[in-house]
Amino acid sequence: MTDHTPRNVLITGGAGFIGCNFVRYFLDSDPDVRLVDLDLLTYAGDLSNLEGLPDPDRHTFVKGDICDRELVDGLFREHEIDTVIHFAADSHVDRSISGPAPFIQTNFVGTFHLLDAARLYWKDEKKWGDEDCRFHHISTDEVYGSLGPDDPPFSETTPYAPNSPYSASKAGSDHLLRAYQHTFDVPTTLSNCSNNYGPYQHTEKFVPTVIRSCFEGNKIPIYGDGSNVRDWLYVRDHCTAIDRIVRKGKLGECYNVGGCNEWSNLELVNKICAIMDEIHPEGAPHTDLMSFVSDRPGHDWRYAIDMAKIRSELDWEPEETFETGIRKTVEWYGKLFAK
Ligand code: NAD
Repeated sequence: MTDHTPRNVLITGGAGFIGCNFVRYFLDSDPDVRLVDLDLLTYAGDLSNLEGLPDPDRHTFVKGDICDRELVDGLFREHEIDTVIHFAADSHVDRSISGPAPFIQTNFVGTFHLLDAARLYWKDEKKWGDEDCRFHHISTDEVYGSLGPDDPPFSETTPYAPNSPYSASKAGSDHLLRAYQHTFDVPTTLSNCSNNYGPYQHTEKFVPTVIRSCFEGNKIPIYGDGSNVRDWLYVRDHCTAIDRIVRKGKLGECYNVGGCNEWSNLELVNKICAIMDEIHPEGAPHTDLMSFVSDRPGHDWRYAIDMAKIRSELDWEPEETFETGIRKTVEWYGKLFAK
């Protein structure tokens, strides 16, 4: 095990949902890190997500594309980047079905450019050792495909079987990471995480959509019969897992991150509606707004994570229970939508 101490960190996609939560968490928890935050500000990124950062002088925002190789090479040299924490992606499965091209470009080609820039700077120019630098890639449990009701949860040895253009592009980027570790000794770690929920998520995603519909009295769209199951993790817990892996993770290893917290979409909507009935009684019962819509093509039925490895090797556990996390989340969006 080679511990790593991040100092000059390139965050990609830090104006998006998980990225901005991580930027906040990282600045707050480590007074010695300096962050360079490269984000293209697509429809999914928003600078307002970065307002009110703790110690903002240690955060430099750069608007740009991870596929712009000249820009990326320049950032490595200018800021002497020793750590990459790579969030940037096109991330919405529905959009990958209606228009897959940007997913292949950002998720696969963009990850290639970042890895290759890291190889050039760390291995050829600086000739740094394993402990000096680290490339952590944030991936998804969707690369493993879909589970049946009685299947065991995904472990790190579950074969990849991506079913959507989104998950296929993420699977491709995971394989590139492995190849850069194996062939060029770029020190890498990888995490495959389940569905996140919490503050700052784009309002097109399921949890914010449900909460917004409740506040606005609009129909809550639920795919198919609502039986699809996801393992939900509070976003701050994902951030602590990434932090632990970056500092303590074994090189070349993948860690599955989840909440041991499986709910069907219908159960999730019922939980959110129950909280909404308390904090927005004028709209109760919010379950009246539920509306079943045609299913997404190729919709994976169930994802679940076996997190035994990160628990035993890195001593990581999620801190938030689903009850506290979902309540905090509804209350946070309440401030946004109840205007
Ligand atoms: P998001 O869509 O909210 O944010 C993505 C960010 O990347 C945005 O700020 C966007 O502007 C930026 N971006 C997109 N293309 C870019 C490019 N070419 N160059 C630079 N920046 C670009 O996504 P998210 O939900 O925060 O997900 C972050 C990462 O975590 C992704 O890699 C995703 O695959 C992974 N992940 C997400 C979840 C989840 O539940 N949201 C679960 C597991 C893994």
